Amino acid sequence: MGHTLSCPRCQKEGVLRSHLQSLREYLASLLFVSPFRCPACSHRFLASRLWLDHSTHPIDRRQHLRIPVRLYLSFSGGKVRGEGTVLDLSMGGCVIKSETQVHTDDIFYLQLSLGEGEQPLEVAAIVRSVSARGIGFKFLRGAQENKRLLAFAQAHVDPSSKSSFNTTVAA
Ligand SMILES: [Zn+2]
Repeated sequence: MGHTLSCPRCQKEGVLRSHLQSLREYLASLLFVSPFRCPACSHRFLASRLWLDHSTHPIDRRQHLRIPVRLYLSFSGGKVRGEGTVLDLSMGGCVIKSETQVHTDDIFYLQLSLGEGEQPLEVAAIVRSVSARGIGFKFLRGAQENKRLLAFAQAHVDPSSKSSFNTTVAA
């Protein structure tokens, strides 16, 4: 028993439950309102999860797929400025190698170089972990809506995808 949600933007069924990404979504979740994401058009929206058939709306794991990359990045926050290499990237965050000393919960403004002659991709992120493997960043709100990040992720996750970093994601 339960009802099935469809995407309010493209009307397709098969929307996935998404992870909480902001205080607003956290507060909404207390009222049984959860974030969902449409895999067809990437639209994210909030909807009530009461009486929902959970088996037809599994948690979205795709956004946490890690894409191995080698991208130059620079970052700044407060008085700290640094640079490094992005080792892997997902819609949720990235892991970088850097000589710069950072601490958990520091917030930085990241600038990722996606390619020669291209504007760097800019996202705000918080340090989640610092280890020998690298510095783990979690992107702050807005990264999901970043069309270039989405296009980059889609182009790398799905090799059959024709999208490049410059193409706008089809709405
Ligand atoms: Zn949709």
